[in-house]
Parts: sequence; structure tokens; C-alpha cells
Amino acid sequence: MALIVHKYGGTSMGSTDRIRNVAKRVAKWARAGHQMVVVPSAMSGETNRLLGLAKELAPAGSSPELNRELDMIASTGEQVSVGLLAIALQAEGVEAVSYTGWQVPLNTDSSYTKARIESIEDSRVRADLAAGKVVVIAGFQGVDDEMNITTLGRGGSDTSAVAIAAAMKADECLIYTDVDGVYTTDPRIVPEARRLHTISFEEMLEMASLGSKILQIRSVEFAGKYRVPLRVLSSFTPWDIDINEEAKSGTLISFEEDEKMEQAVVSGIAFNRDEAKVTLLGVPDKPGIAFQILGPVAEANIDIDVIIQNVSQDGKTDFSFTVHRNDYARTMALLESTVGPATQAAKVQGDPKICKVSIVGIGMRSHVGVASKMFRALSEEGINIQMISTSEIKTSVVIDEKYMELAVRALHKAFELEKNPE
Ligand code: ASP
Ligand code: MG
Repeated sequence: MALIVHKYGGTSMGSTDRIRNVAKRVAKWARAGHQMVVVPSAMSGETNRLLGLAKELAPAGSSPELNRELDMIASTGEQVSVGLLAIALQAEGVEAVSYTGWQVPLNTDSSYTKARIESIEDSRVRADLAAGKVVVIAGFQGVDDEMNITTLGRGGSDTSAVAIAAAMKADECLIYTDVDGVYTTDPRIVPEARRLHTISFEEMLEMASLGSKILQIRSVEFAGKYRVPLRVLSSFTPWDIDINEEAKSGTLISFEEDEKMEQAVVSGIAFNRDEAKVTLLGVPDKPGIAFQILGPVAEANIDIDVIIQNVSQDGKTDFSFTVHRNDYARTMALLESTVGPATQAAKVQGDPKICKVSIVGIGMRSHVGVASKMFRALSEEGINIQMISTSEIKTSVVIDEKYMELAVRALHKAFELEKNPE
């Protein structure tokens, strides 16, 4: 007998028929003798619908008061899901009980719409499990010190599930979704993309932060910190497939680095269309200049990604960085109004039509020439690289958005990712 956490995404919970299917699958696991905690998302589209209603009435801008109410509203999507799933389980003849985040409770800080989990009180859940019940807990939500309802940011049910698995020392956390695992890249762009049987936790962390939308990045961070065995698998297989086969399907996010040693140097290609580039031309090249530029940007709570500073000519240099596209207008306004004049920049330029394409692989640590192979593949397609950034296990390039798919295909081919590494 094991303690297993299942997480079901919005598509898997998308209709009462699908919820019935989820219930049958969970019932199969419970009947096999496992203690089951299930964390569903809201039915697909529901969170957007709820937040859309709120936006119709919301004043412009954002404030903690407004965000508090957005969390109050958005959290109801998951509340409906857990109730429906518990009923469906009972209809299958399985004892089940549902809880919202505050009933558990799952304690968070008070940063509404992006709260962080602080602790999970699991005694109530444990008592139910001991009594033979399946426990269904609402994803995406928690409660702060003052009993205000909070949410964990979009896609946050992944993090709820992993955090619960970590707190309860579950044997495994299975994330059921509408894809059957983690692929070398998005199969919609490269049809030959291959499903990975395992991916290391560090690679998954890079993939999630570089734009692969399979898991909320915080859930991967949690899994890493608490070493929660995590598996991404499809909820669209027949619910009655053999449980042992199901338990080995999908992609395992593993902590066993050695297992990976003989594998491919590059494991996957990630891409991200959500960034924009800004440049300050002709700023004086002197100590403190980067801080003068990026200090105010950080103060405005704008996240910065890739940064590049050119060698100077005649004491002047160009300074570029990327921000999330949602922050582009705000960043440009800030540079044009204050930072540009303060740093005596000759000109402020912006380009929202860029994208970032990255190769990821822990094998890059021990192999040379990986980046140059990447640059050759891009140059053979005539793609100009605007910025480069690297870490031990990834190399990212910023390129014109219109070449994104071409670049992803070229890199997938260059690194032969369609082939099984043996
Ligand atoms: N329902 C929430 C969202 O749509 C949380 C989740 O699905 O993970 O973002
Ligand atoms: Mg999701």
C-alpha cells in the first residue's frame, strides 16, 4: 500500500462525463489498496470565465483589495470541482470527502493571486485516509493568517498537488494532463518530437521556466526541494488500463542523475514567445551603469531575463534586456521617461516581436561544442541571433519571433532528438 497523490487538470475535469472517468480511475487506484489524495483543477475555461466576470466590474489597475476579491472568486472554480469529484467517487461506491484549501488548511502568505505556500496541516486528511476515504482537495488555493482565501497563481493546482505530496511524504505524485508526458519539444511544431521516459528534475526546471507550459514552475521547484517523485501522464488513456502499466506511463521527473549519464547531451528544446526586448543605445560605459538602468526596473517590480551589454566604443555602449511581454509597455515608458534621460542614453528602442529558443540538457555540463552546434544550425537557416544566455545546462538565444518554429525544427533535427538515445 502506498500513499499516492493524483492531480487532474482542467481538461481532464472538463465535463461531468470526464469527471466520472476521473472517478473511475481514482477508484481503481483506491481498490488496488492505495491511500489516495486527489487534487483537481477547475473545469476547463472556468477560471477564465470567473476572472472575466470580475474584470467586467473591476476598476482599472490592480490593488491588494481587488486581488483579494479575485482570489475569492477564482477559488470557487476548484470548489465546484472537488464537490463534483467526491460525488462521482461516491457514485462509484468509494468513500470520498472534499475539502477546500482553507478547510485543510493549506496555509499561505497574503500575496493574493500569487500566494506562496507556508505550511500544510495534514491531520484531518490523514484521519480520513486512515478511515479508508479518498480525500479530494481543491487545487490552486489556500488561506492566509487572517483567514483570507488566496490563490497560488495561474496553473497553481500543480503546486498544490506537489506541496501536499511533499507535506504528506507521498510515495508519488501523478500529474494527469491532456498530453501523455514531457516531449523533446512541442509536437505541434515538430511532429517527430519524442516523449521522454525520464527527465531530470533540473532539466524539467529549465524546461518549465523556459516556456514549456506542462507544469507550473513552482511545482517543479517544490518537487526538487522535497524530492517528491513526480510523473506527468495522460488522463485520456482508458480509465481501466492495467494499473501497473499506467504507473509506468508518461514521463518520470527523476532525481537519479547517474541514470541520465549515458543519455543525450541535449534533452529538449524549449521556446517562449512571451518576452520583449528593450535597448538603451549610446549609454556612457562607466561603473554603476547597469545598476542605474536595472535598479529602477526592479523597483517597478518588472522581472528581467536575458541581459546583454556590448563592448564600448568611444566610451559609449548599448545595453539590452528582455522582460515579459505584459511588462513591455511599462518598461518602455519607464526607460523613455526617466531611466533613459538619467543615464544620458542617446536612444531607447524596443522590440516586442522576439522569442527565446533554448536547448536544455544536463549532458551539456560534460560536453563541449554544444552551443556552437546550436549556432551552426541556426546560421544554416539564416536566422540571426540577437542575444545569447547560458547556464550550465542550457543555452538560450533571442531571435525574431517569425523564425521561432523554423529554429525549433532546425535544432530538433541538429541534435537528432527524434532518435532514441541508447
Ligand atoms: N484553475 C487554475 C487556473 O486555471 C489553476 C489550475 O488550473 O492549475 O489557472
Ligand atoms: Mg496546468
